[in-house]
Amino acid sequence: MNIFDQLARQRNWPEEERIVLDQVQKLADEIIEPNAARCDETSEFPWESVNALMALGMNGIFVPAEYGGTPMSYALYLECTKIIAAACASTGVIYATNFNGMKPLVDFGNEEQKKRLLPRITAGGIGAIAITEQTAGSDATGMQTRFTPDGDDIVINGSKTFISNGDIAELIFLFGKWSEIDDPKGAISALILEKGTPGCTVLRTEKKMGHRAASTAALAFENCRVPRANLIGEPGTGLATLLVALNKSRPSMAAHALGIARAAFKDMVAYTNERKQSGRHILDFQGNQFLVADLASELALNECWLDYVAGLVDAGEPDFALEASIAKLRASDLAMRMATEAVQMHGGYGYCSDYRVERLMRDAKVTQIWEGTNQIHRQYIGRSFRIK
Ligand SMILES: Cc1cc2nc3c(=O)[nH]c(=O)nc-3n(C[C@H](O)[C@H](O)[C@H](O)COP(=O)(O)OP(=O)(O)OC[C@H]3O[C@@H](n4cnc5c(N)ncnc54)[C@H](O)[C@@H]3O)c2cc1C
Repeated sequence: MNIFDQLARQRNWPEEERIVLDQVQKLADEIIEPNAARCDETSEFPWESVNALMALGMNGIFVPAEYGGTPMSYALYLECTKIIAAACASTGVIYATNFNGMKPLVDFGNEEQKKRLLPRITAGGIGAIAITEQTAGSDATGMQTRFTPDGDDIVINGSKTFISNGDIAELIFLFGKWSEIDDPKGAISALILEKGTPGCTVLRTEKKMGHRAASTAALAFENCRVPRANLIGEPGTGLATLLVALNKSRPSMAAHALGIARAAFKDMVAYTNERKQSGRHILDFQGNQFLVADLASELALNECWLDYVAGLVDAGEPDFALEASIAKLRASDLAMRMATEAVQMHGGYGYCSDYRVERLMRDAKVTQIWEGTNQIHRQYIGRSFRIK
């Protein structure tokens, strides 16, 4: 048995979660993966794949039963994300963004908001989260989008950039600054923007190196009115909400990156077992064995670390920010390295789109950039060891 089969066996999923995993794997094999290359090539949104996931109720696994969900463990959510991303990184990020955007609504929304809004997500609505602006990326606190209270409404003016699912989302978890609070961090607030709200325009969708089937939108808000009932928490509580939301979305994106790494490793092993040069399989050259050993070890350790983070979350541990940061950092660096080495092991064929590794390498790059760039994660982790 190979080490990854053994690792998978040791996870001991409860019966109902095992069934979900089998269903997701079947969908990945029969629908998501067969659509992946075409959707990447044409930049076509993978609706068939996404709709199949939604029909399976995959948004419901992170929503409590009282709002229409069928809640399962965070560990299960992460494993599903890995399976989906391994089949198609674009579909993986579309799905993971539903979680990243809507889990904060589950965690911070009030009863009325959750009853009113979450059934739209469990019914298959797409979610998004909008933090980044043109001049506020790594330093999100520099955001300039303004929320101005006006009677029973909040009026939004400003813009957001690089918003995954932003052009198609049913609900967007949107951050901006409360006009009446004069403090750059203390003004940050959050609200839910519903699809079709007048005053919100999709300026463009980006042409990207990878994840070409997933949409990444620039949004503009011009006197865009949202009912005050959609405000999450109180004015000025947005930064705390944002930081907690990122703690759960970072392992989510680590799982997505590990999906890419798994796919690249699988292709590398298959090719090095099949391709012969100088009368030998290329995996029989010692230098290549060393490479495969290093990458297999890294993948195994990353999988175990993410299992550990999932365990912390499922056990209700309140503080796992650094652990989440390490998961995101290492999984995304591994995805990039694994995909690059997989291309290398394919020689010239790896550089051509007939082989999946070409796409995986393009898809891997952004995992080191989004959800906090890896420089930011390194600083955050390093800084935590400063003795005060
Ligand atoms: C495909 C895609 C999808 C995305 N999806 C979303 C989404 O759904 N929602 C959302 O809100 N955002 C999203 N983003 C935005 C993403 O999170 C940002 O791109 C990221 O945080 C970096 O911000 P930036 O691009 O402005 O780069 P900058 O912050 O301008 O960084 C440029 C470079 O400077 C470095 N740098 C910046 N500050 C420091 C520092 N203090 N120390 C050391 N180095 C530093 C960075 O590491 C980077 O290498 C997405 C981005 C992409 C590309």
